[in-house]
Amino acid sequence: MMNETVRVALNAQINKELLSAYLYLGMSLSMNEANFKGYSHWLQKQAAEEMEHAQEFISYLQKRDAKVELESIPFTPCKTQDPLEVAEAVLAHERSITESINQLTELVQKEKDHATEIFLHSFITEQIEEEDNAQDIISMFQFAGESKAARYQVDLNLGNR
Ligand code: MG
Repeated sequence: MMNETVRVALNAQINKELLSAYLYLGMSLSMNEANFKGYSHWLQKQAAEEMEHAQEFISYLQKRDAKVELESIPFTPCKTQDPLEVAEAVLAHERSITESINQLTELVQKEKDHATEIFLHSFITEQIEEEDNAQDIISMFQFAGESKAARYQVDLNLGNR
Protein backbone atom coordinates (compact mmCIF):
# COMPACT_ATOMS: atom_id res chain seq x y z
CA MET A 1 0.00 0.00 0.00
CA MET A 2 1.25 3.43 -0.90
CA ASN A 3 1.52 5.91 1.93
CA GLU A 4 -1.38 8.43 1.64
CA THR A 5 0.91 11.47 1.93
CA VAL A 6 3.01 10.14 -0.98
CA ARG A 7 -0.12 9.37 -3.03
CA VAL A 8 -1.46 12.90 -2.57
CA ALA A 9 1.92 14.43 -3.46
CA LEU A 10 2.23 12.30 -6.64
CA ASN A 11 -1.29 13.33 -7.65
CA ALA A 12 -0.32 16.96 -7.18
CA GLN A 13 2.65 16.40 -9.49
CA ILE A 14 0.29 15.06 -12.22
CA ASN A 15 -1.54 18.37 -12.02
CA LYS A 16 1.75 20.30 -12.26
CA GLU A 17 2.79 18.38 -15.39
CA LEU A 18 -0.62 19.03 -16.98
CA LEU A 19 -0.35 22.68 -15.96
CA SER A 20 3.06 22.79 -17.68
CA ALA A 21 1.47 21.40 -20.85
CA TYR A 22 -1.30 24.00 -20.73
CA LEU A 23 1.16 26.82 -20.03
CA TYR A 24 3.40 25.81 -22.97
CA LEU A 25 0.41 25.40 -25.26
CA GLY A 26 -0.61 29.00 -24.43
CA MET A 27 2.95 30.16 -25.15
CA SER A 28 2.88 28.19 -28.43
CA LEU A 29 -0.26 30.07 -29.50
CA SER A 30 1.35 33.38 -28.63
CA MET A 31 4.52 32.58 -30.62
CA ASN A 32 2.39 31.49 -33.58
CA GLU A 33 0.52 34.80 -33.47
CA ALA A 34 3.86 36.64 -33.44
CA ASN A 35 4.99 34.59 -36.49
CA PHE A 36 7.71 32.73 -34.60
CA LYS A 37 6.40 29.48 -36.09
CA GLY A 38 9.52 27.49 -35.20
CA TYR A 39 9.38 28.33 -31.50
CA SER A 40 5.62 27.79 -31.59
CA HIS A 41 6.27 24.27 -32.92
CA TRP A 42 8.97 23.67 -30.26
CA LEU A 43 6.55 24.72 -27.48
CA GLN A 44 3.76 22.57 -28.88
CA LYS A 45 6.11 19.54 -28.81
CA GLN A 46 7.13 20.51 -25.27
CA ALA A 47 3.46 20.61 -24.25
CA ALA A 48 3.03 17.08 -25.65
CA GLU A 49 6.08 15.95 -23.65
CA GLU A 50 4.55 17.36 -20.46
CA MET A 51 1.39 15.33 -21.17
CA GLU A 52 3.63 12.25 -21.37
CA HIS A 53 5.18 13.14 -18.00
CA ALA A 54 1.68 13.34 -16.51
CA GLN A 55 0.86 9.96 -18.03
CA GLU A 56 4.00 8.42 -16.50
CA PHE A 57 2.86 9.52 -13.03
CA ILE A 58 -0.67 8.21 -13.75
CA SER A 59 0.64 4.81 -14.88
CA TYR A 60 2.94 4.57 -11.86
CA LEU A 61 0.10 5.30 -9.42
CA GLN A 62 -2.10 2.74 -11.19
CA LYS A 63 0.63 0.08 -10.97
CA ARG A 64 0.87 0.75 -7.24
CA ASP A 65 -2.94 0.48 -6.90
CA ALA A 66 -3.10 4.08 -5.76
CA LYS A 67 -6.07 6.25 -6.72
CA VAL A 68 -5.49 8.90 -9.40
CA GLU A 69 -7.43 12.13 -8.92
CA LEU A 70 -7.39 14.85 -11.57
CA GLU A 71 -7.93 18.46 -10.59
CA SER A 72 -8.91 21.50 -12.63
CA ILE A 73 -6.00 23.21 -14.36
CA PRO A 74 -5.62 26.97 -13.96
CA PHE A 75 -4.83 28.76 -17.22
CA THR A 76 -2.28 31.55 -17.18
CA PRO A 77 -2.40 33.39 -20.52
CA CYS A 78 0.94 34.18 -22.14
CA LYS A 79 1.26 37.97 -21.82
CA THR A 80 4.16 38.48 -24.22
CA GLN A 81 4.93 37.93 -27.89
CA ASP A 82 8.68 38.36 -27.30
CA PRO A 83 10.40 34.97 -27.74
CA LEU A 84 13.20 35.84 -25.28
CA GLU A 85 10.64 36.66 -22.57
CA VAL A 86 8.82 33.41 -23.33
CA ALA A 87 12.09 31.45 -23.04
CA GLU A 88 12.81 33.13 -19.69
CA ALA A 89 9.32 32.21 -18.48
CA VAL A 90 9.91 28.58 -19.55
CA LEU A 91 13.16 28.45 -17.54
CA ALA A 92 11.49 29.97 -14.46
CA HIS A 93 8.68 27.42 -14.72
CA GLU A 94 11.08 24.48 -15.17
CA ARG A 95 13.03 25.62 -12.10
CA SER A 96 9.79 25.48 -10.10
CA ILE A 97 9.16 21.95 -11.42
CA THR A 98 12.70 20.92 -10.43
CA GLU A 99 12.01 22.24 -6.93
CA SER A 100 8.76 20.27 -6.85
CA ILE A 101 10.50 17.01 -7.92
CA ASN A 102 13.21 17.60 -5.29
CA GLN A 103 10.57 18.08 -2.58
CA LEU A 104 8.81 14.88 -3.73
CA THR A 105 12.12 13.02 -3.49
CA GLU A 106 12.72 14.31 0.03
CA LEU A 107 9.20 13.24 1.01
CA VAL A 108 9.58 9.66 -0.28
CA GLN A 109 12.97 9.39 1.41
CA LYS A 110 11.38 10.45 4.69
CA GLU A 111 8.53 7.96 4.15
CA LYS A 112 11.02 5.23 3.11
CA ASP A 113 9.16 4.63 -0.19
CA HIS A 114 12.16 3.25 -2.08
CA ALA A 115 10.19 2.25 -5.19
CA THR A 116 8.88 5.78 -5.69
CA GLU A 117 12.34 7.19 -5.07
CA ILE A 118 13.67 5.08 -7.97
CA PHE A 119 10.68 6.09 -10.13
CA LEU A 120 11.55 9.75 -9.49
CA HIS A 121 15.18 9.33 -10.59
CA SER A 122 14.33 9.72 -14.30
CA PHE A 123 12.49 12.97 -13.51
CA ILE A 124 15.48 14.34 -11.58
CA THR A 125 17.63 13.65 -14.65
CA GLU A 126 14.92 15.00 -16.97
CA GLN A 127 14.88 18.33 -15.13
CA ILE A 128 18.60 18.83 -15.83
CA GLU A 129 17.76 18.55 -19.55
CA GLU A 130 14.67 20.78 -19.31
CA GLU A 131 16.58 23.60 -17.59
CA ASP A 132 19.52 23.22 -19.98
CA ASN A 133 17.24 23.37 -23.06
CA ALA A 134 15.42 26.44 -21.73
CA GLN A 135 18.75 28.15 -21.00
CA ASP A 136 20.05 27.34 -24.51
CA ILE A 137 17.01 28.98 -26.11
CA ILE A 138 17.44 32.08 -23.92
CA SER A 139 21.08 32.30 -25.06
CA MET A 140 20.15 31.90 -28.73
CA PHE A 141 17.60 34.73 -28.61
CA GLN A 142 20.03 36.86 -26.59
CA PHE A 143 22.73 36.37 -29.24
CA ALA A 144 20.19 37.24 -31.96
CA GLY A 145 19.33 40.48 -30.14
CA GLU A 146 17.21 42.86 -32.18
CA SER A 147 18.36 41.46 -35.55
CA LYS A 148 15.31 40.16 -37.41
CA ALA A 149 17.51 37.97 -39.64
CA ALA A 150 19.22 36.38 -36.62
CA ARG A 151 15.92 35.85 -34.79
CA TYR A 152 14.50 34.27 -37.93
CA GLN A 153 17.47 31.87 -38.05
CA VAL A 154 16.99 30.89 -34.38
CA ASP A 155 13.30 30.34 -35.05
CA LEU A 156 14.08 28.11 -38.05
CA ASN A 157 16.40 26.00 -35.88
CA LEU A 158 13.75 25.60 -33.18
CA GLY A 159 11.31 24.44 -35.84
CA ASN A 160 13.51 21.39 -36.45
CA ARG A 161 12.61 19.84 -33.10
MG1 MG B 1 7.69 17.84 -17.00
